[in-house]
Amino acid sequence: ITYRVTCGAVPMLGRSGILVSFEDITPMEQAGQMRRDFVANVSHELRTPLTALLGFIETLQGPARNDPKAQERFLGIMGAEAERMNRLVSDLLSLSRVEADERVRPIDPVDLGGVIEQTRHSLARLAEDAGVELTVHLPEARVVVPGDADQIRQVLTNLVENAIKYSNRGGSVRMHLGVPDYESRLRGQGVRIEVSDTGPGIDAVHLPRLTERFYRVDSHRSRELGGTGLGLAIVKHIVNRHRGRLQVESRFGSGSTFTVILPLDGRQD
Ligand code: ADP
Repeated sequence: ITYRVTCGAVPMLGRSGILVSFEDITPMEQAGQMRRDFVANVSHELRTPLTALLGFIETLQGPARNDPKAQERFLGIMGAEAERMNRLVSDLLSLSRVEADERVRPIDPVDLGGVIEQTRHSLARLAEDAGVELTVHLPEARVVVPGDADQIRQVLTNLVENAIKYSNRGGSVRMHLGVPDYESRLRGQGVRIEVSDTGPGIDAVHLPRLTERFYRVDSHRSRELGGTGLGLAIVKHIVNRHRGRLQVESRFGSGSTFTVILPLDGRQD
């Protein structure tokens, strides 16, 4: 705990006294520390591809000047590094946008089945290339919740991209939309969108920290697969903005299920 101690002379009962006040500034200290950590993390994440780019530029100007084969290979790597910086910057922008909007709840009617189908469509190619089967299970009736369709699509995209990315070839990823029955609905229970995979699973010790910015279970694997470490942080903020909840069930070695629970109407908070 950090206190700010302020002393001052004050008139007391006709005489002069000293007033000492203690103010608990721990939350401010923590916020300051978090900001410093964040800036340090961003700088580190940007510096890694930047250093690689600078190194390759030097090589292209020097030793590889007259070697077209090496030039082609290095330009390919440089493209991938620049792409990585680009992804990081777009994720940072998405994150700061949703964080800024978090207090305002989006209220447009969103057809969840439609958003799930769009997500499947846009990620079908990624799944195919990774050798992963992508399936969708929807209820017959249309399910509409108040929200922001683009942001809900972003949530599903991040979850399904992760599920595909971390799965091995031959694995499967399933999106499932579940609606509460009448009774549960009266009790204010929300709609459940589950994204499950047959991937490597996540050890329980990591689960509470997964949505922290730049938290990765296996940094090397995440970077190798093009991860920025911000996907789940973005998911969490969007879900919060919708007054929903994010649950993760996973066991090391036997797949993961990420569940987004969204309120059906304005009552559940
Ligand atoms: P990243 O860009 O590294 O994927 P995320 O914030 O999306 O960042 O995820 C944080 C970490 O959680 C990942 O680095 C990975 O270790 C772990 N993770 C996320 N989704 C899955 C999944 N479906 N299966 C296994 N691990 C996962």
